[in-house]
Amino acid sequence: PAPSAATGAAVKAADRAHVFHSWSAQGLIDPLPVAGAEGSYFWDYDGNRYLDFSSQLVNTNIGHQHPKVVAAVQEQAAKLCTIAPGFAVDVRSEAARLIAERTPGDLDKIFFTNGGAEAVENAVRMARLHTGRAKVLSAYRSYHGATAAAINLTGDPRRWPSDTASAGVVHFWGPFLYRSPFHAENEAQECERALAHLEATIAFEGPQSIAAIILETIPGTAGIMVPPPGYLAGVREICDRHGIVFILDEVMAGFGRTGHWFAADHFGVTPDLLTFAKGVNSGYVPLGGVAISAEIAATFETRPYPGGLTYSGHPLACASAVATLNAMAEERIVENAAEIGETVIGPALRAMAERHPSVGEVRGLGVFWALDLVRNKETREPLVPYNASGADNAPMAEFAAACKRGGLWPFVNMNRTHAVPACTITAAEAEKGLAILDTALETADAHTV
Ligand code: PLP
Repeated sequence: PAPSAATGAAVKAADRAHVFHSWSAQGLIDPLPVAGAEGSYFWDYDGNRYLDFSSQLVNTNIGHQHPKVVAAVQEQAAKLCTIAPGFAVDVRSEAARLIAERTPGDLDKIFFTNGGAEAVENAVRMARLHTGRAKVLSAYRSYHGATAAAINLTGDPRRWPSDTASAGVVHFWGPFLYRSPFHAENEAQECERALAHLEATIAFEGPQSIAAIILETIPGTAGIMVPPPGYLAGVREICDRHGIVFILDEVMAGFGRTGHWFAADHFGVTPDLLTFAKGVNSGYVPLGGVAISAEIAATFETRPYPGGLTYSGHPLACASAVATLNAMAEERIVENAAEIGETVIGPALRAMAERHPSVGEVRGLGVFWALDLVRNKETREPLVPYNASGADNAPMAEFAAACKRGGLWPFVNMNRTHAVPACTITAAEAEKGLAILDTALETADAHTV
């Protein structure tokens, strides 16, 4: 049927009848019925078009409905829809080759999963088996997924309801100058003190008991905190000294988002394991995985790897990854992300920080930016309390509603909005989105004191 308000209402009613939604009180949600999407936009049945400044869950790096990726999925579906992971398949091997070609250093073997959380689960399993140790260190202000180990590693309130004391996870503080737990006054102090804190945590936990340290290269959902120069190299050195596996989680930051293929490329650091998902194929078909170093791969050369998934390396997912990675190279999409960030988004957001009393800090690079919204620039009190809900969250809810009224779909988390459009966004589209954001920020300004 043609898009109409009546069709939209029917789609929503059908959803509410049987679909159980993630992270939600089922009786309190009002999902927008979506009729279609293309490039940087999606639209509903009522004629409203939204510029997607959230890239859904920060995954549509290549934009919606890229014709080359759509065609590749169609062609693969006609050829071979599914086959078990144990077989050798052309499209899976090619996806692995293209990923290995892009990952840093000697991360040349690829274990495929269906998404990011499973990638984290398997990276942790590999690290534990490789070292024979149990504990894993992860950072506060992080997100690693919603399955058992991944949610325990997560350093935000989504962990609390699923926390299991026996999970063998210890949290520490990463560097974040604007809200420093170390009372640092500049990036160099923050870096030095964060590394000293990590050293102390390891000393008191027992270095011989720690299998891995996992970090998002640039923490994403937690606020896009670009680490200070030297921090990741420092963590690498600490891991080497103690025989600890270094895992970088690039599920959100990888595949072009930061203006490089991987965020690790900005820092010249190679982890032992790198987890990916989202941008690898922009989520056209569920896919994630772990890129594995030569040394860890060697551990499982004669000893079986005790992990697997029915859909590991699914042909439709791999075909969409091959088409995505080739299109990103041919169309200079990673370069576009870097250029738009440097020439359009970064300067515009910094100018907004000057004008708006509610914008405490602007952070980011590529198409990966955060606005830290505050009630007061001097005190840096967040616009809404940490983990706000209900009435406490009203200023952020008003801000999001203003964006949507203007035709922009924003990413909102706690007291932050992130500008995370597709890596394919044009300068004109970015400028349009930034203008809507600029106007919507007036609602946040009204709550400053
Ligand atoms: N790791 C990071 C850094 C993420 O941002 C996410 C999802 O947002 C995940 C892991 C979990 O990925 P998934 O939702 O595909 O399981």
